[in-house]
Order: sequence, then C-alpha cells, then structure tokens
Amino acid sequence: MKAAVYWGPKRLEVQDIPDPQCGPDEVIVRVEACSVCGTDIRIYNHGQNNVRPPQVIGHEIAGTIAECGSNVRGYSRGQRVTVATPVGCGQCRYCRREMPNLCKDFKALGYHFPGGYAQYMPIPAAAVQQGSILLLPDSVTFEQAALVEPLSCVINGQEYVRIEKADSVAIFGAGAIGCMHAVLARAQGAGQIFLIGVSRERLDLARRFPIDAYWSILDGDPVARVLEATEGYGADVAICCCSDPEANRQALQVAAKRGRVSFFAGLPKSRPTIEFDCNRLHYAEISLFGAFASNLRQYREALAAIASGRVNPSPFITDRFPLEGLEQAIRQSETRKGLKMLSLPQL
Ligand SMILES: [Zn+2]
Ligand SMILES: [Zn+2]
Repeated sequence: MKAAVYWGPKRLEVQDIPDPQCGPDEVIVRVEACSVCGTDIRIYNHGQNNVRPPQVIGHEIAGTIAECGSNVRGYSRGQRVTVATPVGCGQCRYCRREMPNLCKDFKALGYHFPGGYAQYMPIPAAAVQQGSILLLPDSVTFEQAALVEPLSCVINGQEYVRIEKADSVAIFGAGAIGCMHAVLARAQGAGQIFLIGVSRERLDLARRFPIDAYWSILDGDPVARVLEATEGYGADVAICCCSDPEANRQALQVAAKRGRVSFFAGLPKSRPTIEFDCNRLHYAEISLFGAFASNLRQYREALAAIASGRVNPSPFITDRFPLEGLEQAIRQSETRKGLKMLSLPQL
C-alpha cells in the first residue's frame, strides 16, 4: 500500500510499504480521509517523544472496515467508521471510566501506533476492545467524519467551562480549533463571541462562521478590546487555543468575575510556565481548566452533533490533498493559509 512515512523532523516520504496484517483481535481500516492536526505539524517540524520513526502519523481518521480479525464481534467488512485516537491500558481507573485520554499508560493512534496517512491502517486490539471504532450514520460523509476527533476535543474543553445562554466568549487562536470552539459555543447559546488571532488572512477565513468580532493582536491590545465590548465586565468564558504563553496570560486577564478559563492548547515544552496574578483568580472567583484530547463518550457526542447537523464540519475543510501533497498541506497549514486540510489517501 501507499503511505506517507514519517522518518524524523521535516522528513515525510510517500512510499510503498507492506499492507498491515490483521491479527485475530484487530481490524483493518481502509482510510478515506485523514485531516491534518496541529500536532501533526509539530511532529513534522520538531518530532515528538511518542512518535518513533519510521512511523505513519495522522489521527483524524475516517474510512471503511476492510478486514476484521476472527475474534472481533460487532463489526464487519464494509462498515463506514471513524476511530478514536487514544488507546488506554484498559485497566486503570481512567480506562474503566472510558477515559483512555487520561490513562496512566496513554498511547494513541498516529503516535505510538500507525495512523491514517496511508491507504490502510491497523486498529490494535486494545482500541477495538475499548470501543474506539464508531460506525458512521449514512448522513455523515467521510470528510465530515474526519473532523469528529477535533470536535470531540473541543467538546471536552467546553464541558469544563460550561457555556450558558448569553455568556460572552473570548477565543484566543483563530485556527480551525478556535473556529470550532466558536461554532460550538454558538450552538450552546453563547452571546457575544470574540475571535482573537494574529494573521489577518486567517481571521478573514473565519468570517464564514457566526462570530461577533475578529481581532488581530497586530491591531491593538485584545484585553482592552474585550473589556470595551463587555462594558468593562470581561468575558464569561475565555478559551486559549494557541501555544502562546502571552495568550494564556491574556485569557486570564479578560475573564469576568466568575469567569471560566480554558488552557485548551499546550505550551511549547521549552517554555511551559507563565506568571499571573493569583489574587485575580481569588477575588474575581475565576476558574481555570485544562483539557487534553477527549474521552470515548465525547467522541460519540461529536459524531452525534455532526449527524444531527448541530455542528456542520464542512465549512472547516478548505483543502484536499493526495498523500503526495501531505508535506505541502502541512507547510500550508503552518503559514496559516486555510483551516482544515484533508489528506485523501485513496486518490
Ligand atoms: Zn487532532
Ligand atoms: Zn488505562
């Protein structure tokens, strides 16, 4: 089969590799679409401890079951599916609660296990067993299903910040994830939504979504703008979807009294700390949350939200590439041209 093999930072080669073999407890998926994630870009540029080359990366997957192992029950060849990324040990307290994303021995498809930038990918026994394979309703296309993973992560982040009707929401980071947060916040009944980014070009792309303000930090202090737009109260919810320590600090600064702040994105490993005024948290009763990946229930909710039309992922998809174009897609994402890029390995 054809695969884009990751050989280390800045080395991605499209080559023929042996088809994956299906063990008795495994499933093989023919990949129809795999969407490019911010972490793929990070792996491509800098490498990642969880990815040992040579490896096929890519974890936002949709496809068709091509083969089921002899012990596998409940699935059959030809079924259209998406697959959850985290693979847990199945034993620890988090795995027992369907939260493999918090497993003490966390592993993931497209990191420790081969991913979706290939024509076929093996689904390991542990993933099959924990219920990672989700069947797609007919109404959901492969392209839409490839965005179940990012949407499930956004759902995870927003569960913590509990957006209520008419809440104002400030989102830092105008990429696909920031926009997805905006769309979900709108579906939750949010009031004013402010999208704060750097690239004006990217903010223009975000105009396809129902957002109230698009602000580039190049045009002025975003904290002052949020305060001004909220009569000095600040935002009820602030979500940080960019790996910038300054944005994390600003998210805390724009939070209203009783505001909820999500540090949705990680910071670079080399600079993971920020300084902030703890007294603001104390006196203004601000809550601060983290979020990492998503659990299996949230995957099911994301798929249901797409199937019901509550969230339409199609406007997020701006570009499609065959495997040969993956490197270009990654570079294009980096330069902030486009939102979600889809690799279509069968092209
Ligand atoms: Zn992702
Ligand atoms: Zn576990």
